[in-house]
Amino acid sequence: MEYIADTHSMKCPKCAHGMEEVTYGQVTIDRCTNCAGLWFDTGEAEQLKNQWMGDALDLGSPEEGKKWDAVEDIACPRCGKDMEKTSDPEQPHIWYEVCNEHGMFMDAGEFTDYKHETLADWFRSLIKGSRH
Ligand SMILES: [Zn+2]
Ligand SMILES: [Zn+2]
Repeated sequence: MEYIADTHSMKCPKCAHGMEEVTYGQVTIDRCTNCAGLWFDTGEAEQLKNQWMGDALDLGSPEEGKKWDAVEDIACPRCGKDMEKTSDPEQPHIWYEVCNEHGMFMDAGEFTDYKHETLADWFRSLIKGSRH
């Protein structure tokens, strides 16, 4: 689905398709409707710090994620500045892009290699709690 300002919260920095808002607990994040990449605003990632590594918000497949992983030099969807590629010190195999001012973007499939069961549980709760 292409980006449509009325229905999408923002444009995906990686593939330029529309992103949709997904509520997780107290926090709303943005997920791409095409590549399933995830955007966390600054503060959102902090609030989810202990949860987002354990419970998967990630609906993408690792194969799909690897494809998009090849896309480098993405721009922050908030300010348009280049984002910096970095890895989590405790999960060094997980790479993500970060804008120091606005937040971070993760590729689809970063978690699904090893979190399939949690992913399924989370997805069920998402459907149940959906406002649509
Ligand atoms: Zn995308
Ligand atoms: Zn920014």
